[in-house]
Amino acid sequence: MTASTRVKLKPGDTIGILGGGQLGRMLAMAAARLGLRCQVFSPDPDSPAFDVVQHATCAEYADVEALELFANDVQVVTYEFENVPAATAMVLAARRPVIPAQKILETTQDRLIEKDFVSKLGIGTAAYADVTSVGALRTAIAKIGLPAVIKTRRFGYDGKGQAIIREGDDFEQVWESLGTKSAILEAFVPFEREISVIAARSATGEVECFDVTENEHRDHILKFSRAPAAISDALAAEARGIAEKIATALDYVGVLAVELFVVPGKNGPTVLVNEIAPRVHNSGHWTLDGASVSQFEQHIRAIAGWPLGKPVRHGELVTMTNLIGDDILSYGDWLSVPGATVHLYGKGAPRPGRKMGHVTEVRPPIKS
Ligand code: AMP
Repeated sequence: MTASTRVKLKPGDTIGILGGGQLGRMLAMAAARLGLRCQVFSPDPDSPAFDVVQHATCAEYADVEALELFANDVQVVTYEFENVPAATAMVLAARRPVIPAQKILETTQDRLIEKDFVSKLGIGTAAYADVTSVGALRTAIAKIGLPAVIKTRRFGYDGKGQAIIREGDDFEQVWESLGTKSAILEAFVPFEREISVIAARSATGEVECFDVTENEHRDHILKFSRAPAAISDALAAEARGIAEKIATALDYVGVLAVELFVVPGKNGPTVLVNEIAPRVHNSGHWTLDGASVSQFEQHIRAIAGWPLGKPVRHGELVTMTNLIGDDILSYGDWLSVPGATVHLYGKGAPRPGRKMGHVTEVRPPIKS
């Protein structure tokens, strides 16, 4: 029996959440609705998740004593971000079940390991190569061609730690500016659209996928999502099948997101996996108001050892608009849009690129 199959929480029990951002906040709110408590661990005293829980630990992820005290207070530990340091997960896993399991982080924290894992499952990705020097970069470019995208293997998010390389670029300069010795080169994918699948897997191995979501980015940050994606039923089934295969191969418990590119194929559009996020995901925020069970509730149910919900979408189309940076200044306008539901994360000052809130819209509004 693995740690995750032993967990069976009951109302009143406490879940420990590593990370205090908006994802942790929305996880804690979903847990509260099910009668479960959360304790949030974050080094940032201004964590938005602290506002919605009674007990919080404000300490560094390397603070072993604080981690031990935190573990004592909770029945199970989960996380809202994938870059949980391995040492932190190890200290906690020695005391409480950490779900999703620590070994998942080893696969998803490293783009090369993740791509190898996905490819071995027979699932398509962009062509890629390991790059550890400018010489290796030249070899990889000769193999993969240009344009291509270079990405740091670790700690990249929202387009950080990556650059497009085009014909005529100074490869040495690109390599130096990346500031790492550990990267991958990917073929540039001429995608028709970007989609994601939010999947939940229970401790007993059931998988439930939400409707496939279509995503639009601005400046590498998610701006707008719609569910369902404007793709054929067959392609949507293929995308959900891929997410299920990945979740099962990882023996995953909880919610994960699989980001995919839709690309033209010989027999119509097909999909390539871009990346896996071992957590609830921004492209699943529409489920808060647009489905009978949200991604946050699914995650809480899974890690609690409870049955998953069978999500049913409310309405023909559900959209989610992120309020990024100064977009938040228009929250007052959104409050009076018919059918819109406004979510504000309680963060301080808006900064460019900072996710401050989001708005969901169920269209057309359901008539009673
Ligand atoms: P990532 O950090 O890998 O999720 O990439 C962020 C965004 O960059 C993606 O959502 C795409 O819009 C774009 N992108 C990443 N990899 C590629 C690629 N190989 N080809 C084309 N666009 C990409």
